[in-house]
Amino acid sequence: MTKPSAPPWTPEDSASLYGICGWGAGYFDLNDRGDVTVKVQFPAGEAAVSLMEIVSGIQERGHALPVLLSVENLLDAQIVQLNEAFRSAIARAGYRGSYRGVFPVKVNQQCQVIEEITHFGARYRHGLEAGSKAELILALAALGDGGLLICNGYKDREFIDLGLWAQKLGYSCFFVIESPAELPILLERSRALGIRPLIGARVKVSARVGGLWTETSGDRSSFGLSTAQLVALVDTLKEEGMLDCLQLLHCHLGSQIPHIEDIRGGVREACRFYADLVLEGAPMGYLDLGGGLAVDYMGSRTNHVHSRDYTREDYSNAIVEVAGEILDMQDVPHPHLVTESGRATVAYSSMLLFDILDAMRFEPIDLPSQLPPAVPEQVRRLHELHSRPDGGNLSRDYSEALRCRDTVRDLFRGGQISLRMRSLSENLFLAAARSILARLEEREDVPEDLAQLKASLADIYYGNFSVFQSLPDTCAIGQVFPVMPLHRHTERPDREAIISDLTCDCDGKLDRFIGAHGERPSLPVHPLRDGEDYLMGVFLMGAYQETLGDLHNLFGDTHVVSVRINEDGGFDVMKEISGDSIGDVLSYVEYSPDSLFEDFRNKAEAAVRRGRITVPERQAMLEEFSSNLKGYTYFER
Ligand SMILES: *Cc1c(COP(=O)(O)O)cnc(C)c1O
Repeated sequence: MTKPSAPPWTPEDSASLYGICGWGAGYFDLNDRGDVTVKVQFPAGEAAVSLMEIVSGIQERGHALPVLLSVENLLDAQIVQLNEAFRSAIARAGYRGSYRGVFPVKVNQQCQVIEEITHFGARYRHGLEAGSKAELILALAALGDGGLLICNGYKDREFIDLGLWAQKLGYSCFFVIESPAELPILLERSRALGIRPLIGARVKVSARVGGLWTETSGDRSSFGLSTAQLVALVDTLKEEGMLDCLQLLHCHLGSQIPHIEDIRGGVREACRFYADLVLEGAPMGYLDLGGGLAVDYMGSRTNHVHSRDYTREDYSNAIVEVAGEILDMQDVPHPHLVTESGRATVAYSSMLLFDILDAMRFEPIDLPSQLPPAVPEQVRRLHELHSRPDGGNLSRDYSEALRCRDTVRDLFRGGQISLRMRSLSENLFLAAARSILARLEEREDVPEDLAQLKASLADIYYGNFSVFQSLPDTCAIGQVFPVMPLHRHTERPDREAIISDLTCDCDGKLDRFIGAHGERPSLPVHPLRDGEDYLMGVFLMGAYQETLGDLHNLFGDTHVVSVRINEDGGFDVMKEISGDSIGDVLSYVEYSPDSLFEDFRNKAEAAVRRGRITVPERQAMLEEFSSNLKGYTYFER
């Protein structure tokens, strides 16, 4: 439906339409052929690789879409930039402590991700944060020399023993006391094993932060000590002669904090706690400010919940400056600064790549040039509304069209009109709605009652993936991830669509997107072409999605492929992890694939006995059944 006068479409037009330069943070772009590229900086210059080429490489290696692609260079770059941002902030401010980053394991526990983080983080002694026994065990296995190991969460005797032994092995393992009940167990176990622990205290700061996670801080937060409990902790440690073990103050302000001033406020309060613990006689040395460094999913650099109004450099400068200032005022030596950035570290490096299987359009299928002789009044009105010339009151026209359509539906239900008449009415309604939309698009201001019209007429593109498995935060907390086609950006995307997944669930869809000017209810897409794949990517989804995903409709884990981009613009496949097979997901819900097969074989054999099928037919069926059990849970072509 491109107007003949429309100028040719360029990748630059797509870049601004999809906002890729904003949310892409320099990692994603479009090339001249109109493909989305991943960009990596090397000393000799930049390498940009088309995601379409990576997809072909993955398919040639036998993995069908959907695939979770991880680009390890991006994880590497994020770790470097975080550490370097603090290093420069510290140098600039003349701050006298160092920066010690740790990665909170809960944000992405996947083995290959943790391995990459400890590998790339080694040069900065980047550490790990564990919130449970399972996380501590994997952290102990993964962490190299020198990185901090911070233990948060509720700690039982086994958890504490493991951490104490780790310390004896040479790890700097901090037990962060989250609740008063933990201290007696820690003191008892350290006495029993003869190991003096490194203790941290987690406090609740009262400074409020904006964003979706406001509840993680503040008086009613379920984590951390109140001020009175902190004082009691200090007193107990003094009585036990163990105040020298208290060396870290922990304070997690929240996640995805959009506003830099909130971070400054939280750090200011945390520093006041820190300084007074030093004055109480604790040696201290580490100030851990938790997570919170936001990812700009919108690319808008605003204090919107899915954005942030600061850069990584603003963040590190704010923390270093505020800490230096408050502690200097009280003449307290500068501590090492710890942050537990999870989201910002891993979000960029993972993306979900999937194909579109089909599209449903909301437009008339067949419009007669002339109305048949006897039509109900409402059908005649719909016809007039559709062929009305420009102008008119669009809100009034649209509500009349709705009324006519609904009356015809009532007449149909009452048996007064036929199936074909109802079909004519539905077609005319869609034609009328589309012509109202076309007239609306020529206007500057959209009346409020027509704001949803475009989205309500948007196509539905069926994507080969499950929101519940791959993007659970979309439903859980209304997270908006950047989504866009991976190719054809030399063509104008002249359709609008929402994306529905393979689950038969009305929440299994993406219907909030990022555009050049904030959120939009539908996504510009290209029309599908027969016999040609149409590929999409969901970006910035490396944080929190993997282990929160569930098996809704028994769609399992997707394949995971990790690649490294090379300086010459090629790429190496570093790791391939096959997704769940149908047999795998059935066994998660306690079926045994072997006995399912046996049951089916018995049924087939009984059918042979009754003469319903032949033995060769039985064999063909059994082969099909067993190859299905081994197959991918997603749509296979
Ligand atoms: C979740 C969590 C983090 C990670 O926060 P991000 O905002 O993802 O960086 C860090 N520390 C603690 C204690 C957490 O619970």
